Amino acid sequence: MTLNMDFLVNPKALESRVKEAIEPIFEELESKYGPRDIKLRLADVSFVSMDSTVWCPERDLSIYIDKRFLANEQWVGVLAHEAVHCLGHVKKLEMTYLEEGVAESFSTDYFSRRFPGETLPPSDPRYRIAAGYVKELESRCGSIVKTVRRAQPALSKLTKQDLLGLCPTISESLADVLTARFYNPSECWQPD
Ligand SMILES: [Zn+2]
Repeated sequence: MTLNMDFLVNPKALESRVKEAIEPIFEELESKYGPRDIKLRLADVSFVSMDSTVWCPERDLSIYIDKRFLANEQWVGVLAHEAVHCLGHVKKLEMTYLEEGVAESFSTDYFSRRFPGETLPPSDPRYRIAAGYVKELESRCGSIVKTVRRAQPALSKLTKQDLLGLCPTISESLADVLTARFYNPSECWQPD
């Protein structure tokens, strides 16, 4: 894995902290939601002047973290969010409320346990709404996300019918919104 932190005064110090931070995040993620897609490899983590995202042209994943989150360890929360998108990858345009909701709820929960008393800056309210839908789903069907990923490792590829088959007690409208696309095409610029 390479880390691109050229702009930092002391990139080496942060580089080792990023490497240290990644391991427990993936450990917890995999125990909670099942194993990563083994065809994918985390190749790179970069701090950049754009929105945080994951880029995966083929099998190598790159995590980009908005460098505004360097303050107060907030980047650890962003890393936890983006790590969810590394469990199984789809293009940003294809991401669903289910995947973004899982990423949001995992990262806020992980960050508040890791750094008690610290909070992540408020994100676009849509992320909290997506996390709310996932909570509703989990209240009906417990560890449903792990079950879902056994059938389909990339959460966003799950269809409404698959979801209703795995968790028949949810309403059709909840299944609709969880499997709906989260982003508009205008929000889906990706780095080259
Ligand atoms: Zn996300």
